[in-house]
Amino acid sequence: MHSQKPPKSGLSCKMVLQAVGKVLRKSKTKPNGKKPPAEEKKHYLEPEYTKVRVVDFDLKELVVLPREIDLNEWLASNTTTFFNLINLQYSTISEFCTGDTCQSMTACNTIYYWYDERGKKTKCTAPQYVDFVMSMVQKLVTDEEIFPTKYGKEFPNSFESLVKKICRYLFHVLAHIYWAHFKETVALELQGHLNTLYAHFIVFVREFNLVDPKETSIMDDLSDVVCAPLPAAQNHVTER
Ligand SMILES: [Zn+2]
Repeated sequence: MHSQKPPKSGLSCKMVLQAVGKVLRKSKTKPNGKKPPAEEKKHYLEPEYTKVRVVDFDLKELVVLPREIDLNEWLASNTTTFFNLINLQYSTISEFCTGDTCQSMTACNTIYYWYDERGKKTKCTAPQYVDFVMSMVQKLVTDEEIFPTKYGKEFPNSFESLVKKICRYLFHVLAHIYWAHFKETVALELQGHLNTLYAHFIVFVREFNLVDPKETSIMDDLSDVVCAPLPAAQNHVTER
């Protein structure tokens, strides 16, 4: 049997965003019960979860720089979209991510520390860390001097390094969702969205070398599985 890929133009980041929004609005029921202790086992690596995606085509096609589009414009638009989507995904589990349940920003036995503007290392809870990340990114992506939206305005020299910084921090948030809040994500039936968002993000940062592979290596076991195209047999593709 030969399964065909869906049309390339059929899906955009905006549509993924809309799909996430739709599901979020639909799911009124929240999982009950308290936050479980730190997960010893990586439940997110179980095949029943890793095979769940919202899209089943090659994400690489989505991330490559389209002809006619300026590289910085492309990086700016994707970074802003990932910021919004990751913020939204985190918001679905944020009520379970508290100073009690997540006393530090952990992911796969790594603890992330926040560095303030003066470079001082501070230990903070996961919700504080995520709040620092989101506030910092919000400030950057809405700064017209850094993410210009007006015609003729140029990107600053520091643009690429700032995009790298943003992507590194957004990765920490995704890793924390998997590590500490995967059960709640499954209870909300949002694991397909999380896997799709994660895979899209990883394929994007790899394409443009935006995050040091050493940084993302803690999640390589997951990346290897979800970034690979699904085997044809599992594709939910309509035959023509
Ligand atoms: Zn948490």
